[in-house]
Amino acid sequence: MAFPHKLIIITAPSGSGKTSITKHLMQHFPQLAFSVSAATRAARGKEVDGVDYHFISEEDFKQKIREEAFIEWEMVYEGKYYGTLKTELERIWLQNKIPVLDIDVKGAIHVQQQFPSTSLSLFIQPPSVEELKKRLMGRGTESEESLQARLNKAAYELSFKQHFNEVIINDQLEKAYAEATKIVGDFLQD
Ligand code: 5GP
Repeated sequence: MAFPHKLIIITAPSGSGKTSITKHLMQHFPQLAFSVSAATRAARGKEVDGVDYHFISEEDFKQKIREEAFIEWEMVYEGKYYGTLKTELERIWLQNKIPVLDIDVKGAIHVQQQFPSTSLSLFIQPPSVEELKKRLMGRGTESEESLQARLNKAAYELSFKQHFNEVIINDQLEKAYAEATKIVGDFLQD
């Protein structure tokens, strides 16, 4: 895809409030459209196929890798694949909208490398690893082992923050919303 279309990448260690900030931006700017990733994990709770993710089998996912259907893909969690489909970005651009990708840190770096001059990348930073631990514990879904694994992963992912265009420290959600809205507003103006 050679045409110079814009896109926005939002990334963060897990538990940084990335999803809330993404949702806020989508509500604020009607010209944005959420890029629905393909994923091999099962749908959770109220998630809808084709809206939250394209939930596909591992076999279909691997077929798409062979067909080079992805802009990027990662095994984000053990045995679970996630990827951004080229057709998804094309679909959004054809609607004259700007895709918003909520993806993990490695995936974000890969996308950014492919669209260096037309992408805006936001890294959402948790205030501290201690605070992150509190938030993850607050979810009540983590075992001691998976909590430690997530914290280790978060510390590793934090070390990549300088690769991104903007770093937003999410110590207060309202402040982070305002900052993200200003940055995206400026990007859309250019
Ligand atoms: P969850 O399973 O909690 O929905 O998402 C797990 C992680 O996968 C999140 O950090 C999310 O941003 C990331 N993710 C979602 N879609 C993609 C994708 O297409 N590519 C990559 N690399 N990561 C993704």
